[in-house]
Amino acid sequence: VPLAQLSAMVDKWRPAVAPLAADRVFEPADLRAAIDNGELVNYYQPKVDVRSGTVVGVETLVRWQHPVEGLVYPDQFITLAEEHGLILDLTGVVLASAMDQARIWHEQGLHLRVAVNLSMETFSSVTFANFVSSAANTAGVAPQDVILEVTESRLMLDQRAPLEILTRLRLKRFRLSIDDFGTGHSSFTQLRDIPFDELKIDRSFVHGATRDRTALAMYHASLDLGKQLGMEVVAEGVEDRDDWDLVRRTHCDIAQGYFIARPMPADDLVAWIEVWNQRRVELAASAL
Ligand code: C2E
Ligand code: MG
Ligand code: MG
Ligand code: MG
Repeated sequence: VPLAQLSAMVDKWRPAVAPLAADRVFEPADLRAAIDNGELVNYYQPKVDVRSGTVVGVETLVRWQHPVEGLVYPDQFITLAEEHGLILDLTGVVLASAMDQARIWHEQGLHLRVAVNLSMETFSSVTFANFVSSAANTAGVAPQDVILEVTESRLMLDQRAPLEILTRLRLKRFRLSIDDFGTGHSSFTQLRDIPFDELKIDRSFVHGATRDRTALAMYHASLDLGKQLGMEVVAEGVEDRDDWDLVRRTHCDIAQGYFIARPMPADDLVAWIEVWNQRRVELAASAL
């Protein structure tokens, strides 16, 4: 069994494995130790160009390889990190390792953009822009190859620091992405205030949209808006053939989701790309 297929299988077991860890409430001290002991591992999920099928980048998604609980998903510890002052350290570890990985891929001739998730809670001080830039610099990765995916939170709406930091990062040529667009506080106001390069349509408006008039309307509206603002538009949650056909038919720029690939360990990516390169030719040839 090819590695990529194996990792897809492992991820498919998530529903069976997750309940154990899902019931587990972690203590801030556990997470503190996990950060220090290197128990956080980055998984990477491909983002592909819809028209050509080319792999244009990956999104970094952190997991906690817990010695007892197994693989713990970010839903179970990101909020904890945010609430206990650990998010900056967590982000530092994730970012450093993602930048190292980006350099390794670049050295292998894979010119991928690497996206990292940042919660607004991270933006507590203006020095954060320097922190990100030195992480990229240290690894020798150009800011243009780094995408910072930002999700908004209600708490930060009135504060000026996040806007300043994002503007500084944009001036340093990092690419900014507005994540989960259309949900929560990821909305119009942010688009007006912050110069985003990329808009990611939330998966609730993508997966199954062809069978849901409301979701479909929101999908179209988000796609139009992103295009009119000159942004690259990403559809997340492309889970099946119907979703894939929708993004092709409507000329969305980039797609991401289980139909293409599940998040995988860095070492599986090269093998996965080989498999995908065969599949994408067939997909591109098939009628809409
Ligand atoms: P996100 O940034 O919106 O990431 C996408 C999530 O959707 C990932 O879940 C991914 O595995 C999942 N996904 C991808 N394709 C599909 C699909 O086709 N169908 C469905 N149903 N789901 C899909 P994951 O890895 O559990 O991450 C959840 C959230 O945790 C992320 O949402 C992100 O907001 C946050 N997160 C992950 N890593 C980090 C990190 O390093 N820092 C911060 N601050 N947040 C992170
Ligand atoms: Mg994201
Ligand atoms: Mg998202
Ligand atoms: Mg999401």
